[in-house]
Amino acid sequence: MWRDLLQAVIELIYPSRLQCPLCGAHRPDELLCPDCRQLLAGYAGEQVCSICGSFIGAEGGRGKLICPACLAEARPFDLARAVAPYEGPVREAVHRFKYRGMQPLARPLAKLMADAALRETAFALADALVPVPLHPRRERERGYNQSVLLACALGESLQVPVLDRALVKIRQTPSQTGLSGQKRRQNLQQSFAVAAPDLVKGKIIIIVDDVFTTGSTVSILSHLLRQAGATSVLVLTFAGTRQSVKK
Ligand SMILES: [Zn+2]
Ligand SMILES: [Zn+2]
Repeated sequence: MWRDLLQAVIELIYPSRLQCPLCGAHRPDELLCPDCRQLLAGYAGEQVCSICGSFIGAEGGRGKLICPACLAEARPFDLARAVAPYEGPVREAVHRFKYRGMQPLARPLAKLMADAALRETAFALADALVPVPLHPRRERERGYNQSVLLACALGESLQVPVLDRALVKIRQTPSQTGLSGQKRRQNLQQSFAVAAPDLVKGKIIIIVDDVFTTGSTVSILSHLLRQAGATSVLVLTFAGTRQSVKK
């Protein structure tokens, strides 16, 4: 009874709990509205790059396909997966979550990420979740780190501990516009550090973030975690990229 009452109070404070986390449509009981459920089911059936998880477009299971970006350059992580490409209602949901203070979205988005993780056996072996750190100044401005919120909710779902102090952002990354690939990497590399190498040594780590775009940040973090002794690094994000591949 107290639980029901608490639930009613929460719904009063956060009416978003009654809305589809992706499009905001009214959703009386299930996690997603019927349209978004269908949209995500379509994405789940798409072919993805077997390394970085980029959505390739064609339906037809998850055979071994490697995208041009992964063929061109070895990735420092073993595997990355996302729930859906960063487009349409998925993109809008990320914006509401990240820039418009919709922290309660962490739980439903993490639930969808947990479902995506359960589809890949590699994720079942993970020892810990590591969120992408924000610079403390940025975190103060925003009031929260969206990756930490996702990692904590995901940790509860998957029953995996969250190491939210393993990595730190030691300086704000300078503007990357107009810089060469090497200079960008250097900038990023100098922006992060492993604060607690003992925590990651010998572990299989999942880096958790809201969006995977070029993968440059998670690549630098994967590299740092491996240097600190992590045995394997996987990446799980809510949104990912789409690539077109010539067949
Ligand atoms: Zn919806
Ligand atoms: Zn790829």
